[in-house]
Amino acid sequence: MTDFSSVKGKIAIITGAADGLGKAIAQCYADNGMKVVVSDIDTKKGTQFVNEIRSAGGEASFIQADVSNEEDAKQLVADTVEAYGRLDGFVNNAGIAAGNRPVHEYATAEFDRLMAIDLRGVFLGMKYAVEAILKTKSPGGFIVNIASLAGILGNSSMGLYVSAKHGVVGLTKSAALDYAPHNITVNAICPGTFRTSIWGDTPEEVVSEYAKLFSPSGRLGDPREIGHLALFLASDLARYISGSAISIDAGSSAGKITPVQWEHPEILN
Ligand code: NAD
Repeated sequence: MTDFSSVKGKIAIITGAADGLGKAIAQCYADNGMKVVVSDIDTKKGTQFVNEIRSAGGEASFIQADVSNEEDAKQLVADTVEAYGRLDGFVNNAGIAAGNRPVHEYATAEFDRLMAIDLRGVFLGMKYAVEAILKTKSPGGFIVNIASLAGILGNSSMGLYVSAKHGVVGLTKSAALDYAPHNITVNAICPGTFRTSIWGDTPEEVVSEYAKLFSPSGRLGDPREIGHLALFLASDLARYISGSAISIDAGSSAGKITPVQWEHPEILN
């Protein structure tokens, strides 16, 4: 029987964990006996979530940090090591989207802000987390970077987001090679389209039309599905996986969709 108990007691920091995919990852980690540090800019939501984990018998703490701020990133890792004595894993999840526009219509300030959070933030997280994992001699260190389908494919009207996420995949692959001799795995998860607050107040009909158009399965992903993959990557079952950009997108990144007329639709019934 496949056994995930190797994650039990591992100490992991998850950024942007007060909501969305980060929250689902932290929940899945805590449910499986990991000690989670929920980090976010949103103290209210983050603290509330930590209280929920604790009430259910899990172990968690909240540390407020803005991933684009170097001092915050450094302090986040230092405080975690001080509290738990070790760091095993770091999930660089916090990220923002930019509005959909052709490249020339973006303001330079928008480019700088998106890069600061989505790419520089991942660099800072890895920089300080890896240092701590090495210094505290974790026996099974891991980094998980949440990239995107936009980290492996171009996308019209998403030039800024696509370039930041391609950068995340590049950092992941290079760092995997840097740290393979030191037994730290570094992987990227590339989600397709998941229903989280990154969609803001986009009307339900639009989201569901988008899912039909852009997801081969016709549905949006459930954030818990990202949690399951992140759990596997944190476990000792995945020690030989490093430098991978793993798509979780119902096949969206596998190729183009061409509408097909089924000759035998009756077999679906
Ligand atoms: P979300 O908006 O639901 O949650 C993001 C969380 O990050 C929030 O709690 C927010 O407060 C926090 N955050 C924002 N800026 C921050 C900062 N500077 N420092 C620290 N925390 C910050 O978003 P989500 O959909 O859960 O996205 C999480 C990650 O997944 C992002 O990197 C995103 O690019 C990526 N992603 C999401 C999807 C999707 O369909 N939802 C698809 C592909 C990739």
